[in-house]
Amino acid sequence: MKTAVFSARRYDKTMLAQANDGVGHALLFIEERLTVQTASQAAGCMAVCVFVNDTVDAAVLEILARQGTRLVATRSTGYNHIDAAAARRLGIEVVRVTDYSPNSVAEFAVGLLLAVNRKIARASVRTREGNFDLDGLMGFDLHGKTVGVIGTGKIGLIFARIMAGFGCTLVGHDLYPTQAFEALGGRYLGVDELLACSDVVSLHCPLLDATHHIVDAAALARVKRGCVLINTSRGGLVDTDAVVQALKTGQLGGLAIDVYEQEASLFFQDLSSTIILDDVIQRLVSFPNVIVTGHQAFFTVEAIGQIMRTTIDSISAFERGEALVNRIPG
Ligand code: NAD
Repeated sequence: MKTAVFSARRYDKTMLAQANDGVGHALLFIEERLTVQTASQAAGCMAVCVFVNDTVDAAVLEILARQGTRLVATRSTGYNHIDAAAARRLGIEVVRVTDYSPNSVAEFAVGLLLAVNRKIARASVRTREGNFDLDGLMGFDLHGKTVGVIGTGKIGLIFARIMAGFGCTLVGHDLYPTQAFEALGGRYLGVDELLACSDVVSLHCPLLDATHHIVDAAALARVKRGCVLINTSRGGLVDTDAVVQALKTGQLGGLAIDVYEQEASLFFQDLSSTIILDDVIQRLVSFPNVIVTGHQAFFTVEAIGQIMRTTIDSISAFERGEALVNRIPG
């Protein structure tokens, strides 16, 4: 099936082509993001394959539908970038990748926590310059600390399991509590109680209307002073301006994010030779107790391989008229 693949980086091309080996879909790789301006490049493509920062709103979907697209396949778990109701109205099916190595994201969240708490990135920059001074590099033991997990689904549960291994006390918040989390010794709390007692808070819930800015100024006023916040889920869960204020006052003791509210115009590109116009991200990276990575938590050989295989399988199933197991309801 002729498929336009937007936001195609080198690794997308290589690994999607590998997954397509012997299957034979005609893949048209497009490096630009999908937007109203670039949608015409998918003309004549029955399927369109997108990633998290592509714009798949009603306006874009209308163009795609007019051009003959009948399937949108996102190479991600999250689908907050897709107007699924508009797609359904226009007769376009939407599929995602429900299951791919949740370990990739959970392990990265732990890595971010260690890096920000123990100042590993700062220390590495120092030693490269021949500075072996320890001043400013002191962290705290994770053992015995309370870790709050918001969203104890696939990724949150693995993150919690790893933190249990560090000897942390686990508290969680989820609309659907699980025995698996409680079996780790985790205790479910309301979100306010969780914020008030946690030394570390890690976000693992999806971005929905109900979770937009779940960490806002009011929530930050409730956190235990000096709390470290980790976000590997979606940027919109956090009110970034409020976080900057909380970092300035010391209410927030550290921040490590792999996702950022305004990441669409920044992430997955090399902007090192340009003037970055986003003052908020520039302010964030200027803090010594902040680490920002560019949405790479999923980026392991295992996860990407699975994402590409599932995407190709979904396109094949659609072509054969079979039920779409990873279909997003409209
Ligand atoms: P999941 O569906 O298994 O778990 C999400 C959990 O959040 C569920 O248990 C759900 O009940 C819970 N939840 C929903 N609404 C909630 C609310 N209002 N308050 C508290 N909890 C709520 O999903 P997952 O596979 O664990 O992925 C979690 C998120 O991680 C995804 O939605 C995605 O945004 C993000 N993600 C990020 C990356 C990355 O590379 N940074 C990669 C994959 C996924």
